[in-house]
Formats: sequence, C-alpha cells, structure tokens
Amino acid sequence: MTQGYNKPLPTPQGESDYYWDKAKEHELWLRNCDDCGTPYFYPRDISPCCFSKNTSWVQASGKASLYTFAIVHRAPHPGFRDDVPFVPAMVELEEGPIMATNVVIDDPTPENLSIGMALEVVFDDVTDAITLPKFKPA
Ligand SMILES: [Zn+2]
Repeated sequence: MTQGYNKPLPTPQGESDYYWDKAKEHELWLRNCDDCGTPYFYPRDISPCCFSKNTSWVQASGKASLYTFAIVHRAPHPGFRDDVPFVPAMVELEEGPIMATNVVIDDPTPENLSIGMALEVVFDDVTDAITLPKFKPA
C-alpha cells in the first residue's frame, strides 16, 4: 500500500462499483452482453454491441496480450516522477475486450516489449479504496 498516493484516481460510480470491489479482491471482471454473448469493457449497463440492457458480470481469466504500448520517460504529472520510465498500454484480454492499463516490467525497453506478447494481470493496491489492474509478462 502506497502512502500519500498523488496520481489521478478513477471515481467508482454505480455501473462500475462491482468492478472496483472485485479489483480490491484481486479479481478482474467484465460485463457480458447476454443477448449476443459478447464480453465488453469498460463496465456499463448497456452493451456496446447491441445496446442491450440484458447484461451480466463475468470473471476474466486475467490472461491478455499486448495490443499497443508506449514507454514514457518524462512524467506527464508530478505524481509519476518516480515511476519513469513506465509503460502505459492497451492490452487485449483473452475474452476479447481491449483495456487501457500499464505493463509492469523491470526493464522497460523496446527489446523487452513486443506487440502480441503474453501478459497476465497483477493488482496494484494504490489506496485503501482503489486497486488498479495492471499486467506483467506471463
Ligand atoms: Zn450484444
């Protein structure tokens, strides 16, 4: 647990409370459209595939592949000053949805990161209220 966390934080609200509650338990959950069977992310009550309200929560495997990434060397916000270089990324979950996250890797160089590389979820308990799902090489 990091004390004095000073980076931007998500604001849980209605549709996403369950997602953040499960993240605190170190589980990654998605919404599923029960009309066409499509899992989706980010969590919302109306599915983006067929605008259905017939949706449910499903647990993700936590397996993903690297869809795209950047290596940040200059902190965009004072809170990230001690983190550079770090890797913001889009990862494609095994279930299909693509999510924005970070790749956690000891030596973030282009040689150590490649599109399509296998990743697995890890959970970063950044405050008492918020746990951020991130990904590491599998
Ligand atoms: Zn659908």
